[in-house]
Amino acid sequence: METFSEETLAKARTAKIYIEHLYKVQSQNVKERRDRRAALEQELQSYPQLSEEQRAAALAEHERREREYSRLQRQRLCMDDFEPLKLIGKGAFGEVRICRDCSTGKLVAVKKLRKSEMVRRGQVDHVKAERNVLAEVRHHSVVKLYYSFQDEEYLYLVMEYLPGGDMMTLLIRKEILPEDWARFYLAQTVVALEAIHAAGYIHRDIKPDNLLLDAAGQCKLSDFGLCKPVDVSTLPAFAAADVTGVSAAGAAELPPSPSPRSQGEQLRHWQENRRKLAFSTVGTPDYIAPEVLMKKGYGMECDWWSLGAIAYEMMVGFPPFYSDDPMTTCRKIVNWRTYLRFPSEAEAALTPAARDFISRLLCDVEERLGSHGGASELRAHPFFAGLDWKSLFEQRPPYRPAVEHELDTQNFEQYEDDGATGLTPGGSRSRPIADPNFIGYTYKGWDAVHNTQAKQRINPQRPAPARPGINQLAEAFAQQANIQ
Ligand code: ADP
Ligand code: MG
Repeated sequence: METFSEETLAKARTAKIYIEHLYKVQSQNVKERRDRRAALEQELQSYPQLSEEQRAAALAEHERREREYSRLQRQRLCMDDFEPLKLIGKGAFGEVRICRDCSTGKLVAVKKLRKSEMVRRGQVDHVKAERNVLAEVRHHSVVKLYYSFQDEEYLYLVMEYLPGGDMMTLLIRKEILPEDWARFYLAQTVVALEAIHAAGYIHRDIKPDNLLLDAAGQCKLSDFGLCKPVDVSTLPAFAAADVTGVSAAGAAELPPSPSPRSQGEQLRHWQENRRKLAFSTVGTPDYIAPEVLMKKGYGMECDWWSLGAIAYEMMVGFPPFYSDDPMTTCRKIVNWRTYLRFPSEAEAALTPAARDFISRLLCDVEERLGSHGGASELRAHPFFAGLDWKSLFEQRPPYRPAVEHELDTQNFEQYEDDGATGLTPGGSRSRPIADPNFIGYTYKGWDAVHNTQAKQRINPQRPAPARPGINQLAEAFAQQANIQ
């Protein structure tokens, strides 16, 4: 009997996974295309006043987009398709750069992750989860993913660029947010978490660095990778005895009970250490729920705990279990009954509803808001009294980030950029990807072909599309209706 070398067998296995993947993608594409067409036809039906001509125009425009989308699907993307412009984020696993999408002229944020590092640190499943959540949860409270692709060394996520910076930077600059600001951002985060929970995901890494602001100041959730949180699998599990403090070993390692520092002192300390913690390989554990640290098994409620920790930080100035040493923070979290305190200055400033909201999130799972009825329990809390949830994303945000020009990154930490040297040289477009770890990473979002205007801007010779899209039609119709 003929035998094959291990190498040949491995190649065959990779090819099999790849072919299965292609088949799955193909049938998914057919279904999605059908769904998009059906959705448009249904939308058109809700505008009986449209003429036959307008209807035909909308369908033709839709089919044009579909053709462009198909073309995009066949195209093999690589970094040559993006012009790197400015570094805006740097982490343990990779970096985020503003780039120009050469085909549309639009600015995008490209997150680049080194494959070997992801494999070495056991993060392969995490990067896949990140790509899947972004691709599946298409919601206005979640950062949009346009494409994901890979070359031999890196994985790339091409996302919408949010020029308002992240909430960590805003908190560092503003120290404490007025309660109505906090209410707005927290409400938008509730909506985002509700959307990802409904899609069957737990974020597990909710923290201010992962809440981004768009140009108008609307807040969106990002970073679904769990790539650089405190990796709970590398932390020793915190035993239940530690929670009560009865174990001699556990008690001996606990810090003295609630911090004697004043709010001001604590705030200064936190601010000095915040960025260092964010960029360390382990990340900051400040927002992690106790059940996650205790490896007890946990569910979506752990995200509501994290939201409570952010609420506390927004309104008090530093997170509730802050310590210079991440291990001590972990211990404080599992012993939250002893360590959760409001500094007296904050206590005086907070409304009872805000205090209660925080306390109902930073507590045992059984009592936690959201544990039984999901996001609706949070929505119904008096802290959000009077908030119009329906128009939340149309409301004027409390603060509009300053953005003076297209490449103005004043809302971000400023980085020394090693420029193009950080990028993989071009030419990798045609090479086949033979790493079975990352098959299926490639993605091209429908949103990537939505913006016909952007294309016109950089391609002035190209004639303007003769037919308006459905949104323009709807708008024109509304205007007509007003006039009559
Ligand atoms: P990490 O895994 O390193 O935390 P993130 O996805 O959170 O990666 O990105 C790191 C930082 O880069 C964010 O905190 C934010 O400041 C910036 N950033 C990431 N994505 C975007 C984006 N789409 N638009 C603007 N800034 C972004
Ligand atoms: Mg992050």
